[in-house]
Amino acid sequence: HYNFCAGPAALPVAVLERARNELVDYQGRGLSVMEMSHRSDEFVAIAEQAEADFRALLNVPEHYRVLFLQGGASMQFAMLPMNLLGQGGSGNFIQTGIWGKKALSEARRLGYACHVAGSSEPNGHTAVPGLDTLDISRDAAYLHYTSNETIGGLEFDYVPHVSRPDGKQVPLVCDMSSNILSKPMRVEDFGVIYAGAQKNIGPAGLTLVMVRDDLLGRAQSDIPSLFDYQQLAEAGSMVNTPPTYAWYLAGLVFQWLRDDIGGLEAMDAINQRKADKLYGAIDRSDFYSNPIAKANRSRMNVPFVLADAALDKVFLEEADQAGLLNLKGHRSVGGMRASLYNAVPEEAVDALVAFMADFEQRRG
Ligand code: PLP
Repeated sequence: HYNFCAGPAALPVAVLERARNELVDYQGRGLSVMEMSHRSDEFVAIAEQAEADFRALLNVPEHYRVLFLQGGASMQFAMLPMNLLGQGGSGNFIQTGIWGKKALSEARRLGYACHVAGSSEPNGHTAVPGLDTLDISRDAAYLHYTSNETIGGLEFDYVPHVSRPDGKQVPLVCDMSSNILSKPMRVEDFGVIYAGAQKNIGPAGLTLVMVRDDLLGRAQSDIPSLFDYQQLAEAGSMVNTPPTYAWYLAGLVFQWLRDDIGGLEAMDAINQRKADKLYGAIDRSDFYSNPIAKANRSRMNVPFVLADAALDKVFLEEADQAGLLNLKGHRSVGGMRASLYNAVPEEAVDALVAFMADFEQRRG
């Protein structure tokens, strides 16, 4: 079976098998990782190793903190303005779909000054706005964007480095929930990067946040301590009990990326081949289509529709019978969506492409 779920998504089989082997008795210690105190030497070693491996994969510079939090990416929608706008200024936002819109509306709901710096709404979220079209406000404290919109299948093909009208560089804040670790990237381009774990990192319940040191200490003073990046950083993400088991599993995923895949450049090449195969199949056929501008087509989430929507149901049923799971599009858009995260092997895409050709021949 192959799992094309958008999230929580497939995990590498090798990781699940290792976790199973260690589930009851972690390396002969006589207990499960789930049962360990988060302050114990055993767990602290697991946590530190996971962070070190993550830093090595992404070349995270020394002057960034890596936080292992709970609450999902959605909680960051609230924590970001609380931490970055505590001393005034406004959040600037690029809108390229549903997740970016939620980030903006959460900041607004909390009463922070917000400004829409660019939007792909006029083109129906089929192409990201160009760098030269962005309008940055005078008081911009950061520019937030979603590097990959998971539902629309729209991915940025550039990093939107911007300055305020007075020439001051604006820190970039990026929601990388659905494409982090899919390729090498320059962490130093960003002020804050965050991602819910349940796509390319590990199981749901863990959220990774990277914050540049100079952005700590700008929080509004009356926010809960659990929301304060500085307090979380000082406590090594252990202000309270962290999601220990998810943290451990994320560590296994990082080791898999390094040892089994060979790092992020190798992962990038595999992901490119997977995406090329599926988009190639869609483009060769008149029966399948995807509306996104080629340069912005997501490599992680590939939405597509059938020429005859009446066949959607039978497509999904037959795909499921063929072991191709979770291809239904998001409830807000319909159609199909194949998520090709890191743990989805190339053979899964081959099987999907073969199934699509066969389905078209029989039913198209
Ligand atoms: N941002 C993006 C790009 C997402 O894909 C998702 C979830 O799927 C979220 C945010 C929300 O994540 P969470 O459910 O962890 O709050």
